[in-house]
Amino acid sequence: MRLTSRKGESLAQLLHKEGISSAKVLTAIAKTPRELFLPDALKHKAYQNTALPIGQGQTISQPYIVARMTELLLESDNQVQTVLEIGTGSGYQTAILAQLFTNVYSVERIKTLQFQAKRRMNQLDLHNVKMKHGDGWLGWSSKGPYDAIIVTAAAKSMPKELYQQLNDGGRLIIPVGEENQQLHCITKRGDEFETKIIEAVRFVPLVAGDII
Ligand code: SAH
Repeated sequence: MRLTSRKGESLAQLLHKEGISSAKVLTAIAKTPRELFLPDALKHKAYQNTALPIGQGQTISQPYIVARMTELLLESDNQVQTVLEIGTGSGYQTAILAQLFTNVYSVERIKTLQFQAKRRMNQLDLHNVKMKHGDGWLGWSSKGPYDAIIVTAAAKSMPKELYQQLNDGGRLIIPVGEENQQLHCITKRGDEFETKIIEAVRFVPLVAGDII
């Protein structure tokens, strides 16, 4: 399968109307065949701006939020080259990141999902992604520090290990909360952290210490 999608273009146009302004992000959305990341029964909904189930009680994120989180990485003061993603899931967000950044590392706790996502990266010829089956609360310290870390599941509290794996000036994008979740954009400045609350979001929980 090639990295090109006619329907992806209409999704990009829709996201532009919803307020996504980065041309780089919109181009990546336009080129990515989202149906590849969905089970057969849901492929017909691939270009709707909604989260959808991908099995194992997990979801593929809403395209708007994938685009918004990616845009926040591009708006970072530091030029982002190396990104760590926590919660590979379907691999859709991973595929978008791989088109925009030099090196992408992604950690997933559910082996079956990780396996499927890895196959999809190969199908799309995205070879700058490394994946790991493990607990994302711990990050992936041996590959860090990272210019940015993006977490695609909601954390009850801040995962301290992730802060430590950021470069100075690096950015952590993370949904925080349980019932009421807010997307946080945290920038590391020396020993200090600057936090901006972006908007209300709805993610599956970031599960601690239970690898399956
Ligand atoms: N960006 C993904 C979102 C998947 S949902 C997509 O669009 O497809 C969030 C993912 O985080 C799930 O696959 C879930 O299994 C994973 N997850 C939850 N807790 C985790 C943890 N502690 N470590 C790694 N992955 C985790």
